[in-house]
Amino acid sequence: MSHSITPTPVRGAGADRRGLLGGTAAKPVVRRAPAPGSLLQEADLPAGQLFIDGAFRPGRSGKLMDVIDPSSERTIAQVAEGTAEDTDTAVAAAIAAAPAWGALTPKERSELLHRVADRLAEHADLLTRLESANTGKPSAVAQDDLAQTIDTFRFMAGALRAPTSAAAGRYAEDHLSVILREPLGVVGVVTPWNYPLLMAAWKIAPILAAGNTLVIKPSEQTPLTTLKFAELTADVLPAGVLNVVTGYGPVVGARLAEHPDVAMIALTGSVRSGKAVARAAAESLKRVHLELGGKAPVVIFPDADLAAAASALRAASFWNSGQECGAACRVLVHESVADEFVELLVKEVATMVVGEPAAGEDVEIGPMISKAHFERVTGYLKRAEAEGLRAAIGGGALEGDGYFIAPTVLVDVPDGAEAAREEIFGPVVTVETFTEEDEALTRANGVPYGLSASVWTNDARRSHDVASKLDAGTVWVNAHLVLANEVPWGGFKGSGYGRDLSIYALDDYSRTKHVMHNVAR
Ligand code: NAD
Repeated sequence: MSHSITPTPVRGAGADRRGLLGGTAAKPVVRRAPAPGSLLQEADLPAGQLFIDGAFRPGRSGKLMDVIDPSSERTIAQVAEGTAEDTDTAVAAAIAAAPAWGALTPKERSELLHRVADRLAEHADLLTRLESANTGKPSAVAQDDLAQTIDTFRFMAGALRAPTSAAAGRYAEDHLSVILREPLGVVGVVTPWNYPLLMAAWKIAPILAAGNTLVIKPSEQTPLTTLKFAELTADVLPAGVLNVVTGYGPVVGARLAEHPDVAMIALTGSVRSGKAVARAAAESLKRVHLELGGKAPVVIFPDADLAAAASALRAASFWNSGQECGAACRVLVHESVADEFVELLVKEVATMVVGEPAAGEDVEIGPMISKAHFERVTGYLKRAEAEGLRAAIGGGALEGDGYFIAPTVLVDVPDGAEAAREEIFGPVVTVETFTEEDEALTRANGVPYGLSASVWTNDARRSHDVASKLDAGTVWVNAHLVLANEVPWGGFKGSGYGRDLSIYALDDYSRTKHVMHNVAR
């Protein structure tokens, strides 16, 4: 989830493989770190415990979960497997902390959030290494995540001091209306593994800014930076304001979703988890905020700057190794320029360096997060091959330890192919062709997702018209995957509802109250 994607110059292992249409090239080599485990020292790890009421404590069950480095498949840490009872304890701490936190003046809360940002900046190197070690993400991605995490706190620290709502006034005769904006109370948060710290920040910052307290459950696969966040900010945030319960989704996440005293549940994750949370939340009628999957269409018209599009997709399709909900993963290109575009894209992809995060700053593609996810992505590739789709480059797994998959461009993709409809969530781009504008729109919108999309054209009328007809929460014109804290992020349709980032997130995490005074004399 980059806010500042620019294609980076690359050198090294992949640089000599160019122009490989037909998929005949040698597979890229996985660049290895000089020494295994060189990213982390034992002292860098957070406590593998629950963080409740301002302190680390063991989980009640005493059970632990392994945390795996996906580059080496080695266990790098263990953390507590939280239970429903642990979750209830954390919710009780958050409830106790809510009145005092909500009663702080905006200036006081703002200063504390700025101090959180300062603390993260002071430990930038540690946090990026920890994130890379746990997720396998290239250092450039981890550094971008951290920079955006800090900016999220700074933005919310500023925005909370300038609340917006309708003006107080006499809207009914002899009655004065005042509209208050109040915290909701305790918010339950469930986060995914692809951007563990950044997705936590997208929730924590606006939730705290709006005066709520929270309990967060990080992904069972990537809990380390969320626990480190709690450790680093333990003397900044009052006890109970932020609580972390590690554990499995159907246990800890489900308890947060159903808990009668949790006012809202916010989840970033898959559609399946989003539906489970919405069902569990229905019983207590709590608010639900869902940032779910995506399958972003990239619609390229014949008048587009094809080289610029191919260069942008090098980053936007493969950022975070394609494990990105807004990834430019489904190209719909006009048939008259399809061959030219594919050749340009393949040239870009051929120069990408695959490797472990500790293998160099120029590594752009890391491993898939887990064995299960690796098998899921390779399963899509095998079925695509069986369906007759052709890999213009890449097409399968890479040899050796770790869950590495070659960056892949699939062509000869018929309308309705599985690989072009379902979220693969790996370094895989499909390329379909179209003839008419209406056909492109119908097919772009013809999937259950509606998170993001892009249109590539130099025709001013078409750029606005097509953007307005694409059914997605974010549409870029001649760009893809560029984000900023001032603008909202969130989906339509199966991609969920609610908005992250911007003042719209602050709105989502607060409630309005109308107080009307009879002022007749
Ligand atoms: P996931 O749904 O498997 O897990 C997400 C979180 O939900 C985890 O913490 C998991 O433990 C929890 N969970 C699982 N079942 C649950 C249940 N029954 N009740 C409560 N919580 C439950 O997703 P993932 O594999 O970690 O992440 C990848 C998915 O996240 C992709 O679909 C991706 O598109 C999506 N994502 C979306 C955005 C966005 O902004 N829209 C951002 C990042 C990731």
